[in-house]
Amino acid sequence: MEVRLILGDQLNVNHSWFMDVNKHVCYALFEMRQETDYVRHHIQKVVGFFAAMRSFARQLEADGHTVIYYTLDDTNNTQSLTENIQKVLTLTGATSFAYQLPDEYRLDVQLNSFSASLNMKTNAADTEHFLTTRTELTEFYEGKKSLVMEFFYRYMRKKHQYLMMDGQPEGGSWNYDKFNRNTWKGGNIPPPYQPDNSLANEIYGQIAKLNLDTIGHFDKKEFLFAVTREDSLAQLDYFCTHLLHDFGTYQDTMHQEETNLFHARISFSLNTKMISPAEVIESAIDAYRADKDRISLAQIEGFVRQILGWREYIRGLYWKEMPDYKKKNELNNHGKLPAFYWTGDTKMNCLKTSIKNSLDNAYAHHIQRLMITGNFALLLQTNPDEVDDWYLGIYADAVEWVQLPNTRGMSQFADGGILATKPYVSSGSYVNKMSNYCTGCSYDKKKRIGEDACPFNSLYWNFLDDKKQELRGNNRMGMMYNLLGKIKPEELANIKERAYQIMENPDAY
Ligand SMILES: Cc1cc2nc3c(=O)[nH]c(=O)nc-3n(C[C@H](O)[C@H](O)[C@H](O)COP(=O)(O)OP(=O)(O)OC[C@H]3O[C@@H](n4cnc5c(N)ncnc54)[C@H](O)[C@@H]3O)c2cc1C
Ligand code: SF4
Repeated sequence: MEVRLILGDQLNVNHSWFMDVNKHVCYALFEMRQETDYVRHHIQKVVGFFAAMRSFARQLEADGHTVIYYTLDDTNNTQSLTENIQKVLTLTGATSFAYQLPDEYRLDVQLNSFSASLNMKTNAADTEHFLTTRTELTEFYEGKKSLVMEFFYRYMRKKHQYLMMDGQPEGGSWNYDKFNRNTWKGGNIPPPYQPDNSLANEIYGQIAKLNLDTIGHFDKKEFLFAVTREDSLAQLDYFCTHLLHDFGTYQDTMHQEETNLFHARISFSLNTKMISPAEVIESAIDAYRADKDRISLAQIEGFVRQILGWREYIRGLYWKEMPDYKKKNELNNHGKLPAFYWTGDTKMNCLKTSIKNSLDNAYAHHIQRLMITGNFALLLQTNPDEVDDWYLGIYADAVEWVQLPNTRGMSQFADGGILATKPYVSSGSYVNKMSNYCTGCSYDKKKRIGEDACPFNSLYWNFLDDKKQELRGNNRMGMMYNLLGKIKPEELANIKERAYQIMENPDAY
């Protein structure tokens, strides 16, 4: 008998493992406290993962495979990955053990050393999900000075022949980002896809009794994550039909009344591997080809770039830089994350809205994550460990390989510029330009000092001043430092005083 382990983010039913039914193979899936407790997670994330795992196990059984599944409250469950595997190996009298390569460094190390300790044949298989191997990005950037994503993206476009015509990018340009910066002024946006949430609701009822320490809340009506492959494909189809035509145009905007805008909300289905990046990209390209009058090249290119470019790039970078990446703190930040990140209890409307969205939905779109919660945490000079824990816990799509480079690298610049060419920081004027949050805020977006001055403003100039040593030499920061140099010393002193008051007690604002 061979025991094959399937982790919670390895729910790829098209994997070659499942092509044949073999009575000498037993698949093992475990819900575990090891995974629920290593950071405080959103309740919808826990429910979503368990619902997806249980649906997957049921599907395997329906297809004739042998499955051992430990629910969180199963008396056989030791709550430890290696002890559970050992238990199943003994129970089945296994003579070999196989697993799919984990995408998380921590689990990779754990399973590698566990396998080495076994006195039987072992095998680590590929997950057959990504469009690149673990080391492909490392090999691609070998000998190159900068890791700018754009070059990798072009390489991927050519390699997979997505949106290519006769060796050239379709339409003549690689990137249509400049068409993707409109702000949303209001109007009709189709509601988000509503998946079948009956299993999630049932699981919530079960795990609510187990007193897990979670964040956010669960409401059947608000649970918008597909937990089966069928529903994930339906959600993808819904996106291609109803939202893709404006995806790029409004990709960078934020709006008080719109949580989802034209975003796809498919990261949970992708990161659990219920659907693959290739089928997502190809479905979207098919939709574009079928209806070019409605879906412009700028929309489809913007979408393809996120998945073919950013997602694969982030994954490659994680494997290139781990394990050191997880400890990086190049800006030497040591502040604490405000308590309001767990409650939304702040007068700053942009933060209140983005955090409330996150607590209600275990979801926020990219610009809220980057330019509101991430921006503010960086301006407060927060310890990146704290920022990582928050992002890893609160979002249902958060798996370390994708969360860590996005948070520590892109959003906190703690890697000193491996991923981003400059820190994503801004004052209130950027927030005002890209959203309508400032209209409903207690603070004045234009003021730098005074009781009602927007906290982002003083914190922004103070951040630039405090981090001169680390950032002044960065070419892309030249304009910002020129502007800082034009602020009169007395005014800068007042700005810094206000910034330090905020940093001492951000929860008062
Ligand atoms: C601080 C921070 C933390 C983040 N943490 C995560 C995380 O834990 N898990 C996660 O999947 N994404 C993360 N992202 C990236 C991005 O915000 C989410 O992928 C996106 O918001 C998911 O929602 P969506 O499916 O509606 O995406 P859409 O906006 O509709 O985009 C489509 C898809 O593109 C991919 N994508 C887009 N941007 C990125 C990116 N920067 N990195 C990787 N994939 C990307 C995702 O698979 C996403 O589903 C993070 C971004 C930031 C700034
Ligand atoms: S005024 Fe400042 S705090 Fe208020 S919403 Fe705008 S950026 Fe946010």
